[in-house]
Amino acid sequence: MQKRNTVLILGILAFAIMIIAQVIIIRGGWKQIDEMLYLRYRSLSQDANASLRGSRSMVFDTVNYLLDYYAESVVKELSQITDSQQLANKKDEIFEYFSTVLNKEQDLSQYLSEYFKNQGAEDEFNHRIAITNLEILGADTSVIYRDPSFRDRRSSRDFEGFAHSLTGSTSSILVNRFWFDRNNYALNFSYFIDLTFKRSTIFRELSASLGMSIFSIIIVVMIFLYTYRNLMEEKRLSNLKTDFINNMTHELKTPLATITVAGKTLEMEKIRTDESKIIDTAKLIGKQSVHLNQLINMILEISMWERTEFELDKKKVDIEEIMNDIVTSFRTGYRDCASLTEKYTFNGVKADVDLVYFTTLINNLLSNAVKYSEKEPVINIEGEADNNNISIKISDNGIGITKSDQKHVFDKFYRATSGNIHKYKGLGLGLYYVKRIATAHGGDVTVNSKPGKGSIFTVTIPY
Ligand code: ADP
Repeated sequence: MQKRNTVLILGILAFAIMIIAQVIIIRGGWKQIDEMLYLRYRSLSQDANASLRGSRSMVFDTVNYLLDYYAESVVKELSQITDSQQLANKKDEIFEYFSTVLNKEQDLSQYLSEYFKNQGAEDEFNHRIAITNLEILGADTSVIYRDPSFRDRRSSRDFEGFAHSLTGSTSSILVNRFWFDRNNYALNFSYFIDLTFKRSTIFRELSASLGMSIFSIIIVVMIFLYTYRNLMEEKRLSNLKTDFINNMTHELKTPLATITVAGKTLEMEKIRTDESKIIDTAKLIGKQSVHLNQLINMILEISMWERTEFELDKKKVDIEEIMNDIVTSFRTGYRDCASLTEKYTFNGVKADVDLVYFTTLINNLLSNAVKYSEKEPVINIEGEADNNNISIKISDNGIGITKSDQKHVFDKFYRATSGNIHKYKGLGLGLYYVKRIATAHGGDVTVNSKPGKGSIFTVTIPY
C-alpha cells in the first residue's frame, strides 16, 4: 500500500513538474512573440506617422472643423455659468463631445490601416485616444480637463516611456501625441492602437510547440498509467498467489491431520482387538486419501490447463438427460442440506459437449451455491434452448457477490471472501474452471448477483 502511494505521489509530482516546465517554456515563447509583434508594429506605426508629416493635419481636418465650431458655441455659455456644479457638468459634457468627435471623425486609423496593408502587415487594430489636456479659449481660458502627467501644451514629442507607463503592457502602441491650438480651443491627446489579431497570431505561431507539448504530456501520462496499472495488477496477482498458498496449505492439512490421527489410532492396543473399529479407521484413511488425491490433482491440473489449450472429448449428448443425471447425483449428495428445484426444457436438443468437463462445470456451480450460503440453500436450475444456444441458469439465495468482486470471480485463484478465507474453504479455482470449460465449448458464463440476496450464474453453450 505504501509503495503504491509513493509511486502515485512521485508520478503526480513528476507530472506536475513537467506541466509547470511546459507552461514556463510556452509562456517564454508567448512573451517573445508578443514583444516581437509589439516592436514590429511600433516601428511600422512610427514609419506611418513619419510619412504623414506635412499632411498630418489632413487626417484631423473634419475633427478640427467640428470642434472649433463647437468650442465657439460654448465659450459664451461657460463664462455665464456661476454655479460650480453646473460648471463641472458642462465641462464633462464638453469633454464627452470632444472625445466622441475625435474618435469618430479622425482619419488616422484609416490611413494606418492602409499603410499596414501596403507593408504586408495585418491591418486589424482598435484605436484609443487619450486626451491629456483640453482648454476652451476665450476672454478667460477655461481648462476642461488636464491629466496630472501633462506638462507642456506645445509638445508632441513621441515619448515611449510614457506610453509604456500609461498602458503598462505591450498590448497598446503609442503612435503619436498630438496638439492642436485652434481659435477656440487647445487640445493635447495621445493616439494608441491595440493589436486585435495579436492573440490569434501568437496562438498560430506557437501551435506547433503547443501541440507537441500537449502530445508529449499525453504520452507521458499514458505511459505512467499503463505502468501503474501493470504494477497494481502484479501486486494483485502476487496477493492472489499468497492467498492461494495459504488456502492450499489449509486444505491439504485437514485430510493429512485426519490420516495421522487415524494412523496413531491403529497403533493402539485396544483398537487392534476390535475389528470393526479397524475397518472404520481404514475406511476413514481411504476417504481422506481420495480427498487428498483430488486436491493434488486439482493443483496439478492448473499448470496443465495453463500450458495447453485443453482438449475436449466432445460427444453428441442429450442435454436434458445429462442435466437430469447431474441433478440426481447432486441431490443424493446434498439431500439433507439443500433444496434443489429444476425447471428446464431443452426440447431434446443434442449438443457437442465433453461429458466430464460439462459435469464438472455444473457441479462447481451447484456446490458453490451450497457453499456460499448462510441459511438453508434454495437452488433453482432453469434451462432452455433457442435456435443456436442452450442456456442454463443456476440461482441461489446465498451471500451474493459485490459488483467489484463480480469482475474477478472467474479469475484464477480469486476468492471474494479472501478476508475470511477459512470460513468458506476453497482454492479460488472452481469458477476459473467453469469459465475455461464454457469458453472451450465456444460458450460463456456470466454472473448477476446482489450481496445478501443471492447469485445467478448463466452458462450458454452453442449446439
Ligand atoms: P472457491 O469457491 O474455491 O473460493 P471459486 O472460483 O469457485 O473458488 O469462487 C470464487 C469466489 O467467488 C469465491 O471465493 C466466492 O467468494 C465467490 N462465489 C462463487 N460462487 C458464489 C456463490 N454462488 N455465491 C456467492 N459467492 C460466490
